[in-house]
Amino acid sequence: MINCLYCQKPLKIMIDLKDNKFTCKDCKKEYNLGLNNKLMTVSCKNKKINFLLNDISSCSDKLSNNTIYDLYTKGYVKCTKVLNQIYNEHYSNWEMPLNSIKDLIVQKAENSIKELDNNIRRIQSSEESYTCSKCGNTYPFEKAVNNNFSCMICSSQLKPFNKNDEIKNINSSISFLNNNIASLSRGWC
Ligand SMILES: [Zn+2]
Ligand SMILES: [Zn+2]
Repeated sequence: MINCLYCQKPLKIMIDLKDNKFTCKDCKKEYNLGLNNKLMTVSCKNKKINFLLNDISSCSDKLSNNTIYDLYTKGYVKCTKVLNQIYNEHYSNWEMPLNSIKDLIVQKAENSIKELDNNIRRIQSSEESYTCSKCGNTYPFEKAVNNNFSCMICSSQLKPFNKNDEIKNINSSISFLNNNIASLSRGWC
């Protein structure tokens, strides 16, 4: 569980885009939040947690409206409409429930690991020995020869397919995802 370092409640961060302020929903204490190349870092009191948001598209140092909307559509940010009584206007409240984000990242990573495991099994059992470097399509030797070693889909040149290299690459992706899950379960560091 990722708890607030001040009030110890499960940390939900309220995002104030106008002032670029990030506060605990419960005790209103301030946190730092940075986004750099899909890596979101929440920090405070010399402690931090990294969240790798693999599936977001736009990101920069500062949270922009575009980034918030992207985070929202990917399920990382919740939006509640609040009525401002004075102006009789609705405005959006952006909330980042860190524990849900953690669960979501772990779930997405576990799904990817399953897919990668399947890829390994598929590669191990396949007889395909040539691959297209552009579109990734694979061919058995005979088919590759018959088509002059060019891809039947995109006409790019085929290259020999090295099962071991391919499996090594996939395994390193799997351990990267596993490390990511482990660091999230450790929590603040
Ligand atoms: Zn708090
Ligand atoms: Zn191709």
